[in-house]
Amino acid sequence: MALIVQKYGGSSVSDAESVKRVARRIVETKQAGNDVVVVVSAMGDTTDELIDLAEQVSPNPPGRELDMLLTAGERISMAVLAMAIYDLGFEARSYTGSQAGLITDSTHGRARIIDVTPGRISQALSDGAIPIVAGFQGVSQDTKDITTLGRGGSDTTAVALAAALKAEVCEIFTDVDGIFTADPRIVKKALKLDQIAYEEVLELAANGAKILHSRCVEYARRFNVPIHVRSSFNKNEGSWVISQEAKDATMEQPIISGVAHDLGDAKLTLVAVPDKPGIAATIFETVASNGVNVDMIVQNIAASDTNKTDVTFTLPKIDGKKALAALESIKDKIQYQELILDENIAKISLVGAGMRSHPGVSADLFRALAQAGINIEMISTSEIRISVVTRAEDAAKAVQAIHSAFDLDSDTDATVHAGTGR
Ligand code: ASP
Ligand code: MG
Repeated sequence: MALIVQKYGGSSVSDAESVKRVARRIVETKQAGNDVVVVVSAMGDTTDELIDLAEQVSPNPPGRELDMLLTAGERISMAVLAMAIYDLGFEARSYTGSQAGLITDSTHGRARIIDVTPGRISQALSDGAIPIVAGFQGVSQDTKDITTLGRGGSDTTAVALAAALKAEVCEIFTDVDGIFTADPRIVKKALKLDQIAYEEVLELAANGAKILHSRCVEYARRFNVPIHVRSSFNKNEGSWVISQEAKDATMEQPIISGVAHDLGDAKLTLVAVPDKPGIAATIFETVASNGVNVDMIVQNIAASDTNKTDVTFTLPKIDGKKALAALESIKDKIQYQELILDENIAKISLVGAGMRSHPGVSADLFRALAQAGINIEMISTSEIRISVVTRAEDAAKAVQAIHSAFDLDSDTDATVHAGTGR
């Protein structure tokens, strides 16, 4: 008998009908002879609605209370899902994250799981019941307060439980058929991947692809939990997220796994800073001490006659004004000529483990953008990724051009079954 952890996302349980549909699917899995543990997200856009509500009540709610509020979303879905399963003649028991043994640190809003003690889940399983666990939440080890794991955190709950219970697989049910080579909402002919390595998913997720919660993939990689991302709207085989070694062991390996895009970044340029030791350190110490994470950094060689250079970096758009103010306050120290904040950029990233051993990938990428008439403003690379910054309005065109240039286009259109993409 296999133990399967199934996670159903908000768009799969958006109303009473879909809750019943999901209940039938869970029962089918059980009837096929498996033990099933279910993790469920809040129904539809409930979490966003609860955040909107909090904002109307208070401009700056305490983290403890906001977490208490947001966990209510998942409590609703776990209870109604358990009821729907009862109606099908099976016993289901719902558990909050705390009851299910998801122990976290005490950082409200983005708590980290530090231990999983799923005693009650194991008990329910041995009693023949189907445990339903509220995703995205836990309880702090020291304060004993309720915490949340950050937006999209139910994926992490599911993988953490799968690891602790030594499940055979963690199935993540969503509103698309799996992981695609690009966002199917932008690239109609996006191709569903049969397999993808943990590292590749992490790069795609970190660069704007809305696939899986990064922490969930990190967790899965650490404990080697296979993840099967699939649609809750059909029975099709989805995409398997596995280790690079397991992926290498299968026959044919594509060079590229996908194209991600991110419209959430801005770019900040310090014009004409003196080219001398300590300048970069001062700039980035200042930015970091204001809690701003930078991503790409570009500095040119100084023009020989002036000995001045430009320094440009990207950062989350929401931090733009903060970084600007911080750098303005050290103008005397750095003596730049001007600061330019540009919020109208897109970051496009091409990801694939095959890049490690395959020359010419960046050249092909730049050629594809040139042919589409798209200007590249910044470039950065990792071992398995190439990212470029373009104008924001060029994003969709750039993703499509790259997707086609690398022969990723599928023969059929990708289906998006539900969800607002919110
Ligand atoms: N309901 C939470 C959210 O919308 C957690 C999740 O869906 O995974 O972010
Ligand atoms: Mg959600």
